[in-house]
Amino acid sequence: MVAIGIDLGGTKIETQIFDENWDIVEKCRVSTPKTYADLVRALADQINWARAGVGDIPVGIGAAGLIDQNGCALTANLPATGHPIEADLASLVGGPVSYLNDCRTFTMSEAIFGAGRGYHSVVGLILGTGVGGGIAINSKLLSDPRSLGGEVGHIAAPANVIFAHNLEILPCGCGRSGCYESYVSGPGLSRICKAITGRDLSPQDIAAAYHSDPGVEKSWMIWCEIVAELLISISFSVDPDAVIIGGGLSKIAGIDQFITQAFIRRSLPGFRIPDIKIAQGGDSSGGRGAAFAAWQQNRDEENGVIAHEPHLKKWGQTVEN
Ligand SMILES: [Zn+2]
Repeated sequence: MVAIGIDLGGTKIETQIFDENWDIVEKCRVSTPKTYADLVRALADQINWARAGVGDIPVGIGAAGLIDQNGCALTANLPATGHPIEADLASLVGGPVSYLNDCRTFTMSEAIFGAGRGYHSVVGLILGTGVGGGIAINSKLLSDPRSLGGEVGHIAAPANVIFAHNLEILPCGCGRSGCYESYVSGPGLSRICKAITGRDLSPQDIAAAYHSDPGVEKSWMIWCEIVAELLISISFSVDPDAVIIGGGLSKIAGIDQFITQAFIRRSLPGFRIPDIKIAQGGDSSGGRGAAFAAWQQNRDEENGVIAHEPHLKKWGQTVEN
């Protein structure tokens, strides 16, 4: 066995043990406790259960939210905000545990094992109840858990698109306003449809009706344009080889083609566009990505590579790799 991955969600905790081929050999699912003390205890119990059979192998946890510069969690769906969850867990299990944002673990999983395999630079994009992402360059996540790199849902959507369709600039849960998430999340798609048609439709309703209902089709096309704008914004800074789309909205048939076509219509003509693909990892993506990231970090530390350290050089020296 090489690593343990824990997918920590608002309702369940799933622990997975991976073998040398990165296949799951054993897993265990429990409900997510409602208090912080119970949550940390439940995670420690899961880690101790998994390590009982396989020894002291790396553990990665993927969860919604962020860890701030003081080591404290910031999360909407877990009772952990303001608590130093990594440090508390480490003291309970007697060693470090990697705690990562779940959009980053999704990206890691897709870049290594999924639809992004073989590409040099991969952007993962989750389009669900919320919107988040991650960036993997050369099989490594660009940012650590304490960084905002990948929080693409909270980039402000461009006025040229929002005003063109008379959409409102809305306050976001993050405290800013006009964020992409307000338009391209599942609730955002419903919001666009309401603004265009006056009707309250779920994303599933919209996916079922856009072929036959002109108002719904217009809403759907506006949504695709705004997603494309987000990807164009990312391309102007990262220029990824591939974009891998996950989350509930990725299940809408043909979504990759719609977004690709919108990207082509809106981007600069004559430049390449990233391959836009649907995620392959399924429900185990988060745990596998977390486990791989923890394993990779452990390997790099053993090899003397300091994670996330930029390649510094002194004047007159050249830098290998
Ligand atoms: Zn926001």
